[in-house]
Amino acid sequence: YNEKVKSVAVPEGYSGEGFFATTFDQVIGLARKNSIWPLPFATSCCGIEFMATMASTYDMSRFGSERMAFTPRQCDLLMVMGTISKKMAPVLRQVYLQMAEPRWVVAVGACASSGGVFDTYSVLQGIDQVIPVDVYVPGCPPRPEAIIDGFMRVQDLVGQESLRRRHSDKYKELLNSYGIQ
Ligand code: SF4
Repeated sequence: YNEKVKSVAVPEGYSGEGFFATTFDQVIGLARKNSIWPLPFATSCCGIEFMATMASTYDMSRFGSERMAFTPRQCDLLMVMGTISKKMAPVLRQVYLQMAEPRWVVAVGACASSGGVFDTYSVLQGIDQVIPVDVYVPGCPPRPEAIIDGFMRVQDLVGQESLRRRHSDKYKELLNSYGIQ
C-alpha cells in the first residue's frame, strides 16, 4: 500500500509503468472493450454466417458491439469475412488505412485467414499479406459461436492493451513491415 501511495505522490507522467498509468490503462481498456464498433467486410459465404451471429439467437450485440458502422472512419474493429480476391486486396487495405487508431482486425473463416480452398491465381492467400491481423477464426464457415469467440478474444486484447502500445517502436515496426507509415 505504501508503495502505491508513494508512486501516486511522485508525478510519473505517461512515460513509464506505474500505479496511475496502469490503472488508467485498465479503465480505458474496460470502456473500449465494451463499446467496440465493428465494420463487417463481408464478401461471400462467411458473411451469411455473420448475419446469423448478429440476429436474435446469437446476438453479438450482447457484448457491446451492437453499433455496426459501414464507414471505416467510425469503426475500430475490421471483421473480414469471405474470399478476398487479389483485385479486392487494395480496397481492403484502403479501408483499413481509413480507420483511425486504435484499430483491430479479425480474419473470420478459412478464406480470410489463408485463402481457404481457393488456392488459385486470383485469390489472396490470407488478408495478413496486406494488413496486420489480431485474431484468426478458423472454420469454413465458422459457426456463430466461433465468430463470437473470436470477437471476445479481440475484447481481451483491447482490454489489456496499454495506451502506449500504438506509439511503441515495436508497433511502428509492424506497420512498417506492411508499408504503412
Ligand atoms: Fe465460404 Fe468457407 Fe470461404 Fe467462408 S471460409 S467464405 S464459408 S468458402
